[in-house]
Amino acid sequence: MPEVQRLIVLGAIVLFGSLALGAYQAPAPAVPKVLDIVKLKDNLYVITSSSPTPRELFSGGNVAVFITDAGVTLVDSKLAGWGQVLIDKVKSVTNKPVTTIINTHTHGDHTGNNDAFGKVDVVAHENTRANMAKMDAFKGKEPFLPGKIYKDKLTIGRGQDQIDLHYFGSAHTNGDTVVVFPALRVVHMGDMFAWKDGPLCDRNNGGSCVSYPKTLAGVMAGIKNVDIVIPGHSPMMTMKDVQGYQQFMTDLVAAAQAARGAGKTVDDAFAAFDIGKYAGYKNERVKAAMQAVFDEK
Ligand SMILES: [Zn+2]
Repeated sequence: MPEVQRLIVLGAIVLFGSLALGAYQAPAPAVPKVLDIVKLKDNLYVITSSSPTPRELFSGGNVAVFITDAGVTLVDSKLAGWGQVLIDKVKSVTNKPVTTIINTHTHGDHTGNNDAFGKVDVVAHENTRANMAKMDAFKGKEPFLPGKIYKDKLTIGRGQDQIDLHYFGSAHTNGDTVVVFPALRVVHMGDMFAWKDGPLCDRNNGGSCVSYPKTLAGVMAGIKNVDIVIPGHSPMMTMKDVQGYQQFMTDLVAAAQAARGAGKTVDDAFAAFDIGKYAGYKNERVKAAMQAVFDEK
């Protein structure tokens, strides 16, 4: 068939196909909810944070599954609506019941299924408990708010099962917990270190971009002997990446403050910020973080 003729036939098929599809509006199929699990150690897994596009597939943050003699401790509980998938995924690696949930901070994509596991111990920083108590999602669900809170540091369990919760100050919110599994040399950073991009500084929940560099410096000074870092929403990282994030945030805040001091705009500050200096970084959220610095004064 000559080329022109072939294209016409192809075009007709495509056009007819489109018309046929247009005439019959099939209901959009429900997106199957699927979670992936990654093994870090014999008794530590991560149920990962799925891609946020399409939105229906966004399950919430990385959930650590720590299997101890006493039962399973989860760090965070993903977005509401993912409870059964989460339960099934935990069951795929252990028969032990979930006995404890640690919430790294208040956001719904980290606290959405606290009520899916029956009565468990819920643990969080005292400011996070206060923030969670204000959420509509917890109205009438008060038993699933943190029943155990702390101010600076809390240790749960001992020996192989020890978990240390640390608070280093305001960053993503005013209640960000860094969770350390000392026997395994692993840390869960929550959204204080969610990704290699500007952070969300949630000022409605006491977050502070201005405080970010100091808070991350506290993490670097206070947490040693760690090989694997579980970020809030990205694949696994190392403490070297946390160190890099501390430098990135130091530079971001300094650049925004300098621009503001010189009477420049956030757009000016963003345009002058060279993301290429930071290997593997995106700048999709840098401008918003700079705006938070401008707003914070
Ligand atoms: Zn968050």
